[in-house]
Formats: sequence, structure tokens, C-alpha cells
Amino acid sequence: PVPVVAVVGRPNVGKSTLVNRIIGRRQAVVEDTPGVTRDRVPYDAQWAGRQFVVVDTGGWEPDAKDRAAAIAAQAEIAVATADVVVFVVDATVGSTDVDEAAVRMLRRSAKPVLLVANKTDNAALEIEATSLWSLGLGEPYPVSALHGRGSGDLLDRILEAL
Ligand code: GDP
Ligand code: MG
Repeated sequence: PVPVVAVVGRPNVGKSTLVNRIIGRRQAVVEDTPGVTRDRVPYDAQWAGRQFVVVDTGGWEPDAKDRAAAIAAQAEIAVATADVVVFVVDATVGSTDVDEAAVRMLRRSAKPVLLVANKTDNAALEIEATSLWSLGLGEPYPVSALHGRGSGDLLDRILEAL
């Protein structure tokens, strides 16, 4: 079976932009308005001669109501059915209460998790991103999904984890 990578995180951290970067085409919908991706959307991807599926998800939020809760539930299903989880945080914001709640959900899943500090568009933000060690998920990988900074290294890490 083709391995599956789920991309999860708060709304607007750049999950869909990262998915597009991983698949090398603009297929996942990127929006300035949070909560655009509602379901689990799988895309075929390959890197270094290996094939895998990357699943875009809507923004995960704890204790959300109605629609937002349904979106969060889809993200949790994506985690449960993935081989590796890419957890995306916004490096320009740092870790939030919602990120910390997501980490607890990810720990319960017992899946291998790679922590991505997205929106690390420059070297100064790379220094900021080191504060994300505090989430307890190990080394934060600084990436700019928008510009491609760090995405090759992240893909190497994903393959190592698969
Ligand atoms: P999602 O809700 O997590 O899927 O986030 P999106 O991929 O839709 O992106 C939300 C917003 O963040 C959009 O305006 C993106 O252009 C922007 N964005 C995504 N990645 C980056 C990045 O690496 N750097 C910067 N500066 N903006 C980004
Ligand atoms: Mg999205």
C-alpha cells in the first residue's frame, strides 16, 4: 500500500500551501479566510523516487461547535488513518493554546509527528522557530511553503519517517 501523510494544524497556518508545495502543483485550495478545506483531501505525491499520498485537512480546533467541530473530526480521522503526521504551526505567531491542545490530540494518536514551523520566510524567523521546541514534538522544521524555503529538507524527513 502507498504510505499516507496527513497534514494537520490550526486554520490559516498554511497547510494547503504546504500540500501544494509537496505535490508540486497548485491543487489544494489556499484561502485567506480560515476553514476553507472541510474534508480530508488526498493527493498523489512523489519525492526522490518514492510515492505517497498527502492528505490536506481543514483547520483543527478543540471544543469547536457544529461545522468547525465536523472539520476537526475529519482532521482526527486523517491522523488516525495516516502513517506519518505533519503538524503545521505558524512560525510568525509561535505556539498557541490551540496548538498545545492539538499536540495532546496527536500524542493520543501515537503516530509519528513531524513539526513544521511554516511561514519561516527568512533567517530571522528561523531563529523564532526554535521556540517551538517547547511543544515537545522534537525539532521544529522551518519551512516557507509559500516560497519553498526548507521544503526539500522536509520532504527528506517525511521519507525517513515513512
Ligand atoms: P490553511 O488554512 O492552513 O490551509 O492555510 P492556507 O494554505 O490556505 O494559507 C493561509 C494563508 O497563509 C494564505 O494567505 C497563504 O498565502 C499564507 N501562507 C501560507 N504559507 C505561507 C508561508 O510560508 N509564508 C507566508 N508569508 N504566508 C504563507
Ligand atoms: Mg487549507
